[in-house]
Amino acid sequence: TTTGTDPARATDSHCPYCALQCGMRLRPLPAGGPEPVEVLERPGFPVNLGALCGKGRAAAAVLRPGARLTGPLVRDTRGVRDTRGGRDGPLRPASWDEALDRVAAGLTAARRQYGRDAVGVFGGGGLTNEKAYLLGKFARVALRTANIDYNGRFCMSSAAAAHRRAFGIDRGLPFPLADIARTDCVILVGANPAETMPPALRYFRELRENGGRLIVVDPRRTRTAEQADLHLQPLPGTDLALALGLLHLLIADGHLDEDFIARRTTGFAQARAAAMAHWPERVERLTGVPVAQLSAAAALFGGAGRGMVLTARGPEQQSKGTDTVSAWINLCLAAGKAGRPGSGYGCLTGQGNGQGGREHGQKADQLPGYRSITDPAARAHVAAVWGVDPAALPGPGRSAYELLDGLGRDGGVRALLLMGSNPVVSAPRAAHVTERIRALDFLAVSDVVLSETARLADVVLPATQWAEETGTTTNLEGRVILRRKAVDAPEGVRGDLAVLHGLAARLGVPEGFPEDPEEVFEELRRASAGGQADYAGISYDRIRDEDGVFWPCPGEDHPGTPRLFLDRFATPDGRARFAAVSHRPAAEEPDGDYPLFLTTGRVVSQYQSGAQTRRVDELNKAAPGPFVELHPALARRLGVEEGELLAVSSRRGRAVAPARVTDTVRPDTVFMPFHWGGAGRANSLTNPALDPVSRMPEFKVCAVRVERASSA
Ligand code: SF4
Repeated sequence: TTTGTDPARATDSHCPYCALQCGMRLRPLPAGGPEPVEVLERPGFPVNLGALCGKGRAAAAVLRPGARLTGPLVRDTRGVRDTRGGRDGPLRPASWDEALDRVAAGLTAARRQYGRDAVGVFGGGGLTNEKAYLLGKFARVALRTANIDYNGRFCMSSAAAAHRRAFGIDRGLPFPLADIARTDCVILVGANPAETMPPALRYFRELRENGGRLIVVDPRRTRTAEQADLHLQPLPGTDLALALGLLHLLIADGHLDEDFIARRTTGFAQARAAAMAHWPERVERLTGVPVAQLSAAAALFGGAGRGMVLTARGPEQQSKGTDTVSAWINLCLAAGKAGRPGSGYGCLTGQGNGQGGREHGQKADQLPGYRSITDPAARAHVAAVWGVDPAALPGPGRSAYELLDGLGRDGGVRALLLMGSNPVVSAPRAAHVTERIRALDFLAVSDVVLSETARLADVVLPATQWAEETGTTTNLEGRVILRRKAVDAPEGVRGDLAVLHGLAARLGVPEGFPEDPEEVFEELRRASAGGQADYAGISYDRIRDEDGVFWPCPGEDHPGTPRLFLDRFATPDGRARFAAVSHRPAAEEPDGDYPLFLTTGRVVSQYQSGAQTRRVDELNKAAPGPFVELHPALARRLGVEEGELLAVSSRRGRAVAPARVTDTVRPDTVFMPFHWGGAGRANSLTNPALDPVSRMPEFKVCAVRVERASSA
């Protein structure tokens, strides 16, 4: 923030980045300055209470014309790969009419030649609810393709699947974030809010100031782990065994809440049997966590009056991510730490609208309101809102990685509309995914910047940004909030709703794709009514007046639901369901050729694929490029010095980045952040082995070899 501001001229809004969706005020600045708005604190918003991280404070820098796209681009020669791997011919400026005509023609040509499902749509977890909703409708009504999915599949889909398995509903946190400060013990698994969402740390600090305990489970001693009472540092990919070991100890040490188990759950006998096969010494062998630390964690959690388990990408981005999260939920249920104030399981969702993005039909298997696309009643309800025949709605399509893996192949997607996502950097096995993108007959990308993926497109559509448009998002708590327009977008830039409106008209569907976000939201309310994520009672006016409304909110006189499950879980019998899950190894473990684990993650000054934040000078100064964290013992063994260039290889590719020698990482594991493309792209290495339930790829663990780049 800066001094000398006039708060009266500011607009209340929210950060464009992570799922905390911090409140901020945007004050328009005089034309001709470096940035069109100034980001101010907004102390009254209950989630972040005015605090912002560096990414949020610097978000206005991406609004500058020099940092972003300001007009459509098209490529004249399509489908020809040049030696640098791009498509032949440069991108050149074009009018909106030409660009949209080209997109409609590209999608139509693929549909005619290969059939409807040869046209695909790939969305993003940063899109507003209105965009996510209309994109899902566009795919199913205007394109009539089954193949739509989004990058949120790579984010928290395992937690979503486990949530539904246990509780019958998926809301990242079933309680407000502030409840963390009022519980007695938190186990934070594979989450690093000190880097990913720093303003949330206040609640963990308050927890400890109030006498509560924080246990962090992470293969790295992260900035978050440094603040914990107890840090368990397991081998990557063994969180499931760790949770089973802790449940074993809860049972053995008499920490079960038998009354809660009997009254409010089903399936404990099977879960108990699975846990009894994971005795502490076995779990120590599997995870590398000493029995004494396991016992200490079980005693802290089991002995606490109230408790929470919170997971993030660590346990979720595994080929057994759903079972892993289920194991942590089992722990909550067995200890009676769910379904009552101050206790429960929650997922710290990552992307800005990762929660809302999965509720409104942007996922391959879901319709708005978090309805299953295979449920006849759900199809009938949504079809009625859309004014189409339920039989005409496509069925489930391919999940994100499967869709990308099939690009350009027989039976796969041949023409793709991609909105707000950068899979060239963020997808697993990224070099392969890039090849598949290049194999497309046609690619259109709508984005705010010329990302690595947009550079491969036939048509690039420049999108308006967060401060230039109004729309809702749903933060990690299930709180529906309103981003408000503070400034006009540059001439030449259009909103994604206007893009879908223009494309639908060109595809012969002139009605049903409004450009006005509130009109889209009103339709979304009707489409979600009666579903799990029920927004029927939420309006723009209410969000403005109440500073956010928690779903489900089935009517205008309903107060919204900050805390779920207090009386019953959302299952048919109202009881939470234990899952009988057992340890299994990662899809790929170290061997003679690839002797180390690789795990990937984030740094505080970059966001996701870095497409936006890498365009901000002050963030680049703080985090200028990728690196490889390795333990001093490993560095000695390899003869590696701090800063020396390392080549990291897996069965899927190679990445080169400087060494960062630190004892915060295990000696058998190296770590790379994934925010960069090019030679240091961490996702060149990662494994697309999929979780069978959520279809989540195994980003968090694979086997690699590390060498000095000079000798590799
Ligand atoms: Fe934005 Fe997340 Fe930072 Fe808050 S914590 S300012 S929402 S990036």
